[in-house]
Amino acid sequence: MQSTSLVSSSSNSLSLSPAETKTTTTTAAAGPRIGAPLTRVPASSRVEFPSIRLHHDRSILSPLCCTASESVKGEQEMALKDAEDDRIARISSAIRVIPNFPKPGILFQDITTLLLDTKAFKDTIDLFVERYKDKRISIVAGIEARGFIFGPPIALAIGAKFVPMRKPNKLPGEVISEEYSLEYGTDKIEMHVGAVETGERALIIDDLIATGGTLCAAIRLLERVGVDVVECACVIELAELKGRDRLGGKPLFVLVDASA
Ligand code: AMP
Repeated sequence: MQSTSLVSSSSNSLSLSPAETKTTTTTAAAGPRIGAPLTRVPASSRVEFPSIRLHHDRSILSPLCCTASESVKGEQEMALKDAEDDRIARISSAIRVIPNFPKPGILFQDITTLLLDTKAFKDTIDLFVERYKDKRISIVAGIEARGFIFGPPIALAIGAKFVPMRKPNKLPGEVISEEYSLEYGTDKIEMHVGAVETGERALIIDDLIATGGTLCAAIRLLERVGVDVVECACVIELAELKGRDRLGGKPLFVLVDASA
């Protein structure tokens, strides 16, 4: 099972102490994972719940100095945070990890199992919508292919248009494109000319950030036409690859840290 976190670039992360970590009994049949042998959780094993890093500090209100109303407010905030953490844990455990796909050495983070879990999928969309609904965002730019799954429901919910950022030669109209480097060679993403206007505010969404090359190209593409990229958002981050360092200081919001 992977560690979970709710992380933004400006978050004040806090690790739960061992005493605060929950334990649970997990069986292969309990989750939505298909092909149990491919998951990292052995069937019927007792496992430690992943450590959950919160971007708030629960020790802010000291019981000795807060008023009754502050205390109630603090408890309400903690209850909300606990609900949020439950959602993150559920999302994390609904993502299937497949070793050596599509080639040897790659640990593939498969979000198709997340889509089968209606609660976890809804929680995923809700967490993004809650974050972006009052941010005056008029563009949700989704990166092919899995950004096309998460982007449209977020766009509809926050009243923004959805703009697909596609692989080369897929869009029928006039395009502008941006090249980026891969481990071997280069790739490109393209966007229709006229899909966005100078001065609009955009959120870029993809399923996962690894090296950050794809998101970096998407930021460049939108900024070239005068769009203000407010934030990038992904369901999963492979934090050890330090992809967020390639985003030129642009904020990145992720739900799950899938570092090994
Ligand atoms: P990068 O440009 O290196 O940040 O790679 C991000 C893109 O590659 C995303 O569109 C992901 O869907 C895909 N990707 C990279 N690594 C993985 C992985 N381990 N599991 C699933 N998708 C991945």
